[in-house]
Amino acid sequence: MKTIGLDTEIASISESIDSREVIALAQELVRVPSEYRKEHAVSRYIFRKLTKWGFRPKTVKVDGFGPCVVCQHEAGHRRSVVLNGHMDTVEVKEGWKHDPFGAKIENGMLYGLGALDMKSGLAALMIAFRTIAESGVKLHCNVRFQGVTGEEENSAGIRTLIARGFFKDAKATIVGEGIGGMGVITHGRRGGSYYNIDVIGKSAHGSTPHLGVSAIADAARLVTALDTMKMRISPGLISDSGQQLSESQLVLRISGGDVSYSVPDKCSLRMMRATVPGRPVDITEELQRVIKKLDLKSTVKIKMERGPGDLLKPYFSPTDSELVNTASKWIKHYTSTDPRLVCGLSEADDNKIAELARVPVICFGPGERGKLARYHQPEEAVSVAQLGTAAKIYCSAVLELASAP
Ligand SMILES: [Zn+2]
Repeated sequence: MKTIGLDTEIASISESIDSREVIALAQELVRVPSEYRKEHAVSRYIFRKLTKWGFRPKTVKVDGFGPCVVCQHEAGHRRSVVLNGHMDTVEVKEGWKHDPFGAKIENGMLYGLGALDMKSGLAALMIAFRTIAESGVKLHCNVRFQGVTGEEENSAGIRTLIARGFFKDAKATIVGEGIGGMGVITHGRRGGSYYNIDVIGKSAHGSTPHLGVSAIADAARLVTALDTMKMRISPGLISDSGQQLSESQLVLRISGGDVSYSVPDKCSLRMMRATVPGRPVDITEELQRVIKKLDLKSTVKIKMERGPGDLLKPYFSPTDSELVNTASKWIKHYTSTDPRLVCGLSEADDNKIAELARVPVICFGPGERGKLARYHQPEEAVSVAQLGTAAKIYCSAVLELASAP
């Protein structure tokens, strides 16, 4: 067995990756429909592919979704480096001109549902994983590939893998999801929490509104107050849209009143606060202070939502960590640019990896910016020139992370 440690050796292994193979695999993955909750066929496809490559993958059942696929390159050590990607896509949206499952390449762009989000990343992760395993290099960590399901619906697959202990020995995780392309590393994300707010007034005949308390009128004042609340920033963190990372808040639903000619005595709101690292996730007390100041005649009850979706904690991996440094170094090596370090505005699987499994995590991979960033939109497409580069960067970064004692 060879031992490595030198960048040149890592680079020479990664250079053996054939970009055309990564592109062909991405096309094959796009051709297998895998809308969330219907990921069974793609899961089978990836399982068979890994088996054909000589691995012994496993499937992990996820309630209501297709199974996850996990695969280990065993180095005989207690710790692992994880390559993770989601296999599911959103549904076919209106407005496609290309066949969403045709995987046609035109002018260097691969068109198809999931081309950006995130089958091109998944293909690059798989080829990188195989290249690492076949390199015969003596590593100090096992290397694990995970294809997960249900990412587009509250991260069902990753929650299952975490609950089943698949991150217990993990030293670091790279998620192959690229928002903005290869020059960007997502090293953190906002989280969020949901609140149901009931405004309870007093009913009276509609002809004598002064005898009642309108819950709708009070709720309207409350919505205005919620809309103008002061949002805090997370100093030093930049969002994926280039601004300082800041909280935001949105009322998502309002309902109340009745058919009869009565003073409405109940009105309900549902709202979401997107939270940033360093700020509380549960903002019930902050909301109570705002409500108190309004001095409403109605009674207001706030309830933070509980359930599988409630734990949407923000996270960030420090910019000087081994994981961020190693990924940055190899991105620079292959793209000749220093990657931008950003935090995602919306939460994703990596929030759970960081906050539930407590494992350092970053996301980067093939992606697009500006008009071409058609995530969750018709005519989703990815420029194929970056696919081979992505696989080489994953391969190099993981080889370096896994060869460190
Ligand atoms: Zn995605």
